[in-house]
Amino acid sequence: MTLRSLAQELTEPHLKSIGGRIGKVPSLLSELRDAVSGSSSGDAGGGASKQRILVNATALDLLNQIDAEVRSAYSDRYGQGAPTLETCIELIGKGEHPADWDAWFTAKLDWYKAQIETMLRPKKMRRLDNVECPSCLQSKHGEDRATCLYLDCYEGEHKVLKHASEWEVHCVACEASWTREQMSWLLVALSE
Ligand SMILES: [Zn+2]
Repeated sequence: MTLRSLAQELTEPHLKSIGGRIGKVPSLLSELRDAVSGSSSGDAGGGASKQRILVNATALDLLNQIDAEVRSAYSDRYGQGAPTLETCIELIGKGEHPADWDAWFTAKLDWYKAQIETMLRPKKMRRLDNVECPSCLQSKHGEDRATCLYLDCYEGEHKVLKHASEWEVHCVACEASWTREQMSWLLVALSE
């Protein structure tokens, strides 16, 4: 993605394909702010103040990191004090920059987007109970005997199946992974 389109996704409501449909979603930074305060947007009434007491520390750390890095990049780039986080990103997104600076800041925004999305929308995967990992030879691991193997077969947060050629298996115990061509052992295990 370009610097400009990443800046828009971070700071402005935008259109997105959700489970095969196009819908309008809030900016990533406003979603992150909502996650920090533990409030859901559009939530009004007596319960709201109580919810805001909850603070998601991981989300707050990420927001603070983004805020500090973007402000510092803005000050370096323009030689003046930084306005609000969103305004910094909007102005940089609309500006012209030297190619190397553009590439560097684009990579930063890309990383922020990935971090926010991973935090807000953890990947849904199919658990493979009772299947032994060919690498560490376990089907459960740890004190709580958690399942080792997960099939990464869904697209986005609505469990739309990806094309089978893009499926992957991951072992959370030994961190081995397999793509489709290497998955024949799984077909054998599931047919037993
Ligand atoms: Zn394993």
